[in-house]
Amino acid sequence: ASVDNGGPTIFDKIIAREIPSTIIYEDDKVLAFRDINPQAPVHVLLIPKFRDGLTQLGKAESRHAEILGHLLYAAKVVAEKEGIVDGFRVVINNGPEACQSVYHLHLHILGGRQMKWPPG
Ligand code: 5GP
Repeated sequence: ASVDNGGPTIFDKIIAREIPSTIIYEDDKVLAFRDINPQAPVHVLLIPKFRDGLTQLGKAESRHAEILGHLLYAAKVVAEKEGIVDGFRVVINNGPEACQSVYHLHLHILGGRQMKWPPG
């Protein structure tokens, strides 16, 4: 659903391996897998395994600070694994106006081509 109803999303099924995805990195707290509709040669989604109310960044509470920091560090680890650590972009779409479509917080990690700025 492209509204934030606080409920399960397709990403829960990816975490549970109920639907297939190409997982490229995982630890006890986060999972990274290739976007099904890539917008760059490398396009990885990085998500917390335990959503804990974190449907979007705008819903973050102070208790989420640790996982938010961990996600940002994991983004660097993913970029390194993907060979794009010298040039990559991390994007978080928050809410309808930013085109968020899955309401389970996720970082887009994009690279492998020249990026444009502003993104539009
Ligand atoms: P958003 O628009 O919410 O920031 O990003 C959601 C992303 O999830 C989109 O880039 C979309 O392509 C990706 N996505 C949606 N459904 C699936 C799926 O079932 N598998 C994978 N790997 N990616 C998905």
